[in-house]
Amino acid sequence: MVKYLFELQEIEINILKKEKELEVIEKADDIKKYIIQDKKIRKYIEKMKSVQKKYKTESKLLEDHIKELENTKEDMKKKLYSGEIKDTKGLELLIEKEKRLEESIEAYTGRMLDRIESQEKVEEELGKYVKKAKDIGARINELLKERKNKKEILEKDLYNLNREREEIKRIIPKGNLELYYSIKEKKVKPMAYAKNDICSGCHMDLPIEIIERIDKGNMELCPNCRRIVVILGE
Ligand SMILES: [Zn+2]
Repeated sequence: MVKYLFELQEIEINILKKEKELEVIEKADDIKKYIIQDKKIRKYIEKMKSVQKKYKTESKLLEDHIKELENTKEDMKKKLYSGEIKDTKGLELLIEKEKRLEESIEAYTGRMLDRIESQEKVEEELGKYVKKAKDIGARINELLKERKNKKEILEKDLYNLNREREEIKRIIPKGNLELYYSIKEKKVKPMAYAKNDICSGCHMDLPIEIIERIDKGNMELCPNCRRIVVILGE
């Protein structure tokens, strides 16, 4: 009969272990960590996208402005070669204006190229982070899948273990079960075995009369730790 009590103890320890594993899986701390990372990266990507948009708008504005300046320059050139302006002073003034316009175009072109370069840099950075976000997304999916599988296995194991426990409890006499569970209220393992007359639960010497009574088939408690003591190999 004590053999069944030992089995019951093994089953119950196993149930406890699996319940704890299930708890860890339910918590999903590892997945939460990746989800936080994912959120951060997505936020950063959004920020970079708006910067990219800003640069794009700015370079477009500069481009339009340069076009306007070039049109004005064309008009000026036409005027200059049309022969409309006859006086030297007028011509000099126009040439001076054209020169200034040319400088202006150059300066705006420089600024536009600068914006385009910045935009390209952001694009490159954006590409890296988009890839990172994709990798993290894949990792999250992988972990969720793993979690689902592990949970299913654990739940199935727990179902079987609980059934085994009920079956074994049906075999064990009520009095023994009550004793077992009353000890279990204070100790995770209510069962101990004697080896060389030493209790495996508390490592204290067992009195010879207890050993003799166990030998006769009695159910005995260790006087020290109050566990049910059995002699292994029976
Ligand atoms: Zn003991």
